[in-house]
Amino acid sequence: MLQHPETKYRPFPPIDLAERQWPNRTITRPPIWMSTDLRDGNQSLFEPMNGERKMRMFRMLCEIGFKEIEVAFPSASATDFNFVRELIEGGHIPEDVTIEVLTQAREHLIRRTMESLKGARHAIVHVYNPISKTFRDVVFGMSKAEVVDMAVSAVKLIKQLAAEQPETQWVLEYSPETFTAAELDFSLEICDAVTAAWGATPHNKVILNLPTTVEVATPNVYADQIEWMHRHLARRDSVILSLHTHNDRGTAVASTELALMAGADRVEGCLFGNGERTGNVDIVTLAMNLYTQGIAPGLDFSDINAVARTVEYCNQLPIHPRHPYVGDLVFTAFSGSHQDAIRKGFAAQQPGALWNVPYLPVDPKDVGRSYDSVIRVNSQSGKGGIAYLLETEYGVVMPRRLQVEFSGVVQQHADSHGGEISAAEIWQLFAATYLDTVEPVRYREHHLFEHGAAQGIRLNVEIHGTSHLLVGEGNGPIDAAVHALQGIGIKVQVRSYEERSMGASGEAGDARACAFMEIASPENNADCYGVGLDANIVTASIRALVSGVNRAGLSLRDGLRAA
Ligand SMILES: [Zn+2]
Repeated sequence: MLQHPETKYRPFPPIDLAERQWPNRTITRPPIWMSTDLRDGNQSLFEPMNGERKMRMFRMLCEIGFKEIEVAFPSASATDFNFVRELIEGGHIPEDVTIEVLTQAREHLIRRTMESLKGARHAIVHVYNPISKTFRDVVFGMSKAEVVDMAVSAVKLIKQLAAEQPETQWVLEYSPETFTAAELDFSLEICDAVTAAWGATPHNKVILNLPTTVEVATPNVYADQIEWMHRHLARRDSVILSLHTHNDRGTAVASTELALMAGADRVEGCLFGNGERTGNVDIVTLAMNLYTQGIAPGLDFSDINAVARTVEYCNQLPIHPRHPYVGDLVFTAFSGSHQDAIRKGFAAQQPGALWNVPYLPVDPKDVGRSYDSVIRVNSQSGKGGIAYLLETEYGVVMPRRLQVEFSGVVQQHADSHGGEISAAEIWQLFAATYLDTVEPVRYREHHLFEHGAAQGIRLNVEIHGTSHLLVGEGNGPIDAAVHALQGIGIKVQVRSYEERSMGASGEAGDARACAFMEIASPENNADCYGVGLDANIVTASIRALVSGVNRAGLSLRDGLRAA
């Protein structure tokens, strides 16, 4: 880094805004939310989502409660174009959900984009062009007038093509890309020109989306820019003022919140802040920030783990363990004094009263989580760390969420037995908790068979001394076993699955496979782990499933329960 960064970088100039109003405002209602997970996020993945992943994400976004979803950049790829067609032709779009698509302001791309939307009930066409001085001078070599003309011509073409597809209710969205780095009066000029060209009215509003394409200043500067536009826009009553923030300076959430105070109506973002570079603003954090101020956000994260696992599956990117509201460690306390304060807080918390528990800004139950007090397994405890001991002495490398879960088990043991716990005791506890579970279901053996394209399984289990043969089919051995277990009334979903080969050391014996299965059941809301060890990896995974089922304490169907 430079000794004198002022020779290379310059501060962003303040906005000249007399008597700014936003610092005195509070947010009292949620904005219109728009998910751009299938576009902005999808643009920057190591491996872009395929059709199956896109559909899974789309369904979940609908379930969460999004009413506007940007589903694709149809002119950019066949996958995106076909996905829009599949949504429309397959009837996958709920009546109250409007899909949105993005296009550059170029004629052939606009034509292809409009073609992708044939037959849609409602659609938002989102067109953009970059407007800042750097883009005008360096990238395109265009004058201001040419840049305005590019936007206006695009809008007129969309208007004409929309008129040719009258079965669709059309909404126009325009983004002056690089808004934060552009001259405000020029942003105003181009936005007003677009509003006029579209013929926006209070009954046919245009969405003007003002992005921090790249964050270039502190959040108060963005709020000033938004308030300035909010005050100066022509036909403000015919405009939905929208925000699209990125996180280059780490302040996307703050920028969005201040800009909402400054007069914006709508927010675009991604779940858990996925998106290009440092990501788009995290809509989950924004929504939960509203919720913890007592404002219903209109989005439902009652089962935040399910949302997180689906997002990780679709994006193939992990969520940071310290991510607000969702990270594996955010409802976990390692420190004794914090644990003590939280325990007292829970004890004093009356049902129905305002939330008042130290260190927990939200009741973990509200997002389907539980509070975990965890014995010190961090580096400070050195060799005493549970995960460390199991890994070095027994070759078991636990997934992080299992570490948190098992720490609770060890903590309980420590509380009731006192004193220091040895590695051997931890292993015994681990084996008793996960490996040797036989109640109510004892695994005996299984056989796999093929049935057409499906994988079949004959699973032999013992329940209260009686053996049962369960048969199931699925797209793989685990899926087949999950279906087989339905025969005894057990309904579970596999949330995550990992397998590892084990070191040859210790009790675990010869090099063996270890399978970790995180399961969820509709019966009890909490997720829990099962673990299986075996020489054979498939057998290890079936054992892990049975272990998880026993751990979850699920009830069997009538007639199988213990006398
Ligand atoms: Zn973006």
